[in-house]
Amino acid sequence: MASAARSSVPPLEWIRSEIEGYLSGWKQRRGRDYWRRPLVGVASAEDPLFSQLDRAVDPSHAMPRDLLKGARSVIVFFLPFLEDLGKANGEKKGLASRDWAEAYVETNLLIRKIGSHLARCVRGAGYTARATPATHNFDEEKLVSGWSHKHLGYIAGLGTFGHHHQLITKAGCCGRLGSLLTSMEIPATPRPGEEWCLQKAGKECFACVARCRYGALFEAHFDRQACYRQCLVNDAHYTDLPLVDVCGKCACGVPCSYEIPT
Ligand code: SF4
Ligand code: SF4
Repeated sequence: MASAARSSVPPLEWIRSEIEGYLSGWKQRRGRDYWRRPLVGVASAEDPLFSQLDRAVDPSHAMPRDLLKGARSVIVFFLPFLEDLGKANGEKKGLASRDWAEAYVETNLLIRKIGSHLARCVRGAGYTARATPATHNFDEEKLVSGWSHKHLGYIAGLGTFGHHHQLITKAGCCGRLGSLLTSMEIPATPRPGEEWCLQKAGKECFACVARCRYGALFEAHFDRQACYRQCLVNDAHYTDLPLVDVCGKCACGVPCSYEIPT
């Protein structure tokens, strides 16, 4: 089915329809719905920005071909959360909302499953593929990722970084990212030509700074360690859930939560 579908539509549209189809089936099977319509971007594995990730993220950051020999494209997808989910997390004082924590767990699982599904489709079309985990692939001391989905999303044209260090996409920053490497050559999607974060674009905002009550996000700097401490507070609270090292308050109830801010 995969190769038949691929032959009739451009690769990016084929990938998008596979993600949307899988998501739709997942919602029905699981009886849970936390997501809006997915976004998909593609970067060439040879994009020169990959070679800058050792400085932008960490010297240990992988290159596409470290993870998949012969990789030609990196597919990055964003699963935007429903507005109600972000609204509830933003309104709850102190801790992350329970729905937000549960959506994190469910979305990480979904991202893994979408990655496996896409890898099967791409292999069925005659190419190699490797899906990557949604999270928890980072150095727990330095708190940097060896395969940063936010940076991949930027390279693949899905959005630009906000002052809060989240990726602001066309569907905002409330959501989660996944990726897949493949030997299939897919035309890269263009990057935005301007900053989407209001503050970075020279307009006044800092709404995200006002949302952080945990000593992590300031106008002048971001304390990664303080941020992760708050994420672990939430994890310690939701003891019945798997690891939920999340917070997300700075991404909820701000102009860039669900759209490009204006
Ligand atoms: S809330 Fe405002 S300053 Fe913060 S990331 Fe979003 S647009 Fe930028
Ligand atoms: S995720 Fe939470 S602790 Fe971290 S910067 Fe945002 S609001 Fe602050």
